[in-house]
Amino acid sequence: MPSQWKRQQIHIAGQWLSADSGRTLDVINPATGERIGTVPDAGAAETRRAIEAASQAFDESRALTGNERAVLLRHLHDLLLDNREALAELLTSEQGKPLAEARGEIGMSAAYILWFAEEARRVYGDIIPSPWRDRRVLVTKQPVGVVGAITPWNFPSSMLARKLGPALAAGCTVVAKPAPQTPFSGLAWGALCEAAGFPSGVVNIVTGSATEIGGELTSNPLVRKITFTGSTAVGKKLIQQASGTVKKVSMELGGNAPFLVFDDADIDRAVAGAIEGKFRNAGQTCVCVNRFYAQAPVYDQFVEKLAAAAAALKLGDGREPDVQQGPLIDSNALAKVESFVADAVQNGGRVVTGGRRHALGGTFYSPTVIADANAAMKLAREEIFGPVAPVFKFQTEDEAIRLANDTEFGLAAYFHTNDLGRVFRVSERLDYGIVGVNEGLVTTEVAPFGGFKQSGTGREGSKYGIEDYLEIKYVCVGGLGVVAPANQSEPHEANSDGK
Ligand code: NAP
Repeated sequence: MPSQWKRQQIHIAGQWLSADSGRTLDVINPATGERIGTVPDAGAAETRRAIEAASQAFDESRALTGNERAVLLRHLHDLLLDNREALAELLTSEQGKPLAEARGEIGMSAAYILWFAEEARRVYGDIIPSPWRDRRVLVTKQPVGVVGAITPWNFPSSMLARKLGPALAAGCTVVAKPAPQTPFSGLAWGALCEAAGFPSGVVNIVTGSATEIGGELTSNPLVRKITFTGSTAVGKKLIQQASGTVKKVSMELGGNAPFLVFDDADIDRAVAGAIEGKFRNAGQTCVCVNRFYAQAPVYDQFVEKLAAAAAALKLGDGREPDVQQGPLIDSNALAKVESFVADAVQNGGRVVTGGRRHALGGTFYSPTVIADANAAMKLAREEIFGPVAPVFKFQTEDEAIRLANDTEFGLAAYFHTNDLGRVFRVSERLDYGIVGVNEGLVTTEVAPFGGFKQSGTGREGSKYGIEDYLEIKYVCVGGLGVVAPANQSEPHEANSDGK
């Protein structure tokens, strides 16, 4: 039976609509290659109408009290959990990840929404001690306005949760564009927000041409903020486009995560962390390990155990029980992974396991471990975004840190050690926004998620996550009169720069 959350129309001002042109885009199940539905191929005109609807709804949204917003967000949270199975099945059908991971993602979406429901009630300002006797200095925070949100296919539900949660908690309104491979999980947010009771126009979802929708979102003056999760190349383009109307931008971009295994580490724990950190979502996460570095004395042992664990992973359609790795998202992703492995082999890499398409066919790729990795390989510099684990060798702590930091990216880094001093020395010197020490799964709604360098700007989740959706306003209240000290006839002259 089709899920009530599977919508094949775009959502503008509370209406479910087709594209103006009537054109549609096919949505494919990557595990089977079958067409599972269509979504409208909308463009700039529909996006403009969605922005106008969001702009009109902003007055109503900003007028809600923090408590009223919290109640709506709690409804949304409850709906997510009550419909977790249906939403997870929808997600797996278009994205391919194992159902257990999809259930986990819907749970994570709910956790972000609940966190921001709580934060909605805690948007505090300040009263700053005044330098003037007759004036008061107040600081308040208010929603930035209409937010344009663009998200990728690898976490089609939770990447939007991280944006909708803080935006709605702050009182903003939203126009979102999900990725074309996974639009149903994005459109489901429109239906969920409607069912939770958010007023029409507060959340609008548009599918279709990225350049047209992105072009309108980044140039329309009614949009005051762009929040994007995706590749660094597209992020740079959007920053440039948004500069024309000086919008606020939050960017969650690509990564090139290193994973260091020191010779004092618990190797079995490191291997378990490596499997989680590399092969989850078939290696298609921004915090996935891209480069493994093992210290010389434990190099062979780590490679051997990692290869054995990778080879034991069960591949298949994510809807089947016990499947641990699904297909890659599409044939482009498969071609990219194949070209990276070919390049690694050409540059002296030794395939210990995998290194080829999987017998299941389609876009399934075998979990792969490549030993003798070196800096000449493309996968040393670029994001692999697939189930391929290259292992480099290092000798000293200094060398490991230098190699780990030798990239323009700075999202997540991991290392394994049992030396307490090294835990602090290394974590402080890694130029990354997120560091996992003896731990491969670190994402949680309570901690700030985001990168250094070209991995982005801004943070999602945590107490910092709502700040990107708020403007700070300074209000100076003057003419209050001055109480003169009893023993002084003339009041003291206050500081003022005369501006
Ligand atoms: P992508 O190619 O950058 O696409 C992301 C989104 O941007 C899609 O909805 C895409 O739509 C849209 N887009 C592309 N070009 C656009 C343009 N000119 N204007 C407006 N929108 C445009 O990234 P992806 O391949 O889907 O996702 C993988 C990347 O996301 C990886 O680099 C990964 O590291 C990163 N990521 C980062 C985080 C994080 O939190 N830091 C989380 C998850 C993923 P179309 O497909 O229609 O072009």
